[in-house]
Amino acid sequence: VYTCACGLPTQRGLFLQIRRNFPTCLPAWKSPPRALRASHSEALLSPAGGGLPGAPLQTLSDEELMIQSAVKKFAREQVAPLVSTMDENAKMEKSVIQGLFQQGFMAVDIDAKYGGTGASFFSLVLVVEELAKVDASVALICDIQNTVVNGLVRKHGTEEQKAAYLSQLATAKVGSFCLSEAGAGSDSFALKTRAEKKGGHYVLNGSKMWISSAREAELFLVMANADPGAGYRGITCFVVDRDTEGFHVGKPENKLGIRASSTCPLTLEDVKVPEANVLGQVGHGYKYAIGSLNEGRIGIAAQMLGLAQGCFDYTVPYIKERMQFGKRLFDFQVY
Ligand SMILES: Cc1cc2nc3c(=O)[nH]c(=O)nc-3n(C[C@H](O)[C@H](O)[C@H](O)COP(=O)(O)OP(=O)(O)OC[C@H]3O[C@@H](n4cnc5c(N)ncnc54)[C@H](O)[C@@H]3O)c2cc1C
Repeated sequence: VYTCACGLPTQRGLFLQIRRNFPTCLPAWKSPPRALRASHSEALLSPAGGGLPGAPLQTLSDEELMIQSAVKKFAREQVAPLVSTMDENAKMEKSVIQGLFQQGFMAVDIDAKYGGTGASFFSLVLVVEELAKVDASVALICDIQNTVVNGLVRKHGTEEQKAAYLSQLATAKVGSFCLSEAGAGSDSFALKTRAEKKGGHYVLNGSKMWISSAREAELFLVMANADPGAGYRGITCFVVDRDTEGFHVGKPENKLGIRASSTCPLTLEDVKVPEANVLGQVGHGYKYAIGSLNEGRIGIAAQMLGLAQGCFDYTVPYIKERMQFGKRLFDFQVY
């Protein structure tokens, strides 16, 4: 561990990246051993850029820098002017959702052959973080679409399902992930929604709670138990179109925060879903849910990081202007 004059410790091997990113800190850094310097200067020359072994996450590749700056511009120009109105009305503006699709932010790590941007999962994290600096609701709709909805179809969908759904999710249709129910929150495998097989289709009955983006969504990934006798091993993932008969999206919750992100209940009354709409394998839904929530959590961490950075970025200029007791608030800091 090397320590900078500004007090920040860093891991071994980050010296040269820091030298590039923070040249003003450099004189105060203790020099790492020569062998370490050599190995890292080689790594820095690699075209992989941000994907360097041992590189700090803030060392971004050219592609990542480009994506980050595109999101920053989009957030500043197309989201920032609408933040207050969207929060007050508890409603996401259509132009924002359209913009997210147009910019390719709704399918960051989806292959270009399905209409996605074809970037990395790490780039997606940057997109969510950058959006959250301006509006955490916009970051959330983007995060869920990418990490959970697209991720499930990409990993578990058949080639036909990917061709049909991924291209829609990449370019035009918002998706929702529907696991939680009134009695199944943390204990999500206790879900009561049932899927009964009848000939070439399943009939879904039950209800869901707190489903993000449901007001805007056109495609829903619904977890239902197709074999209650097998317990959680009966949980299966179904792709349900919003227009399916018997499928209803309820009124969004009136939340205290992230108000522009809709959080709705759903009811399913004899919703007939073709067998071809089973995502992956029957009875594997619980595995899919766990896996996608793990990625979703990384996105939520990025959202929180962006939100905190956004607060900081708005606050510092203000406290440098705001005068109290004859001084700027900034100058009252305790050293
Ligand atoms: C804004 C928002 C958006 C959401 N979006 C979606 C969505 O898109 N799709 C979806 O399916 N769900 C969604 N949810 C639901 C979310 O996944 C659940 O809220 C979550 O699983 C927690 O369930 P719960 O609220 O019923 O809390 P509970 O399960 O009732 O838990 C209450 C508290 O008890 C604690 N607790 C529970 N079990 C234990 C234990 N074993 N040991 C110790 N402590 C425990 C919990 O940590 C929590 O603090 C959303 C929720 C919110 C608030």
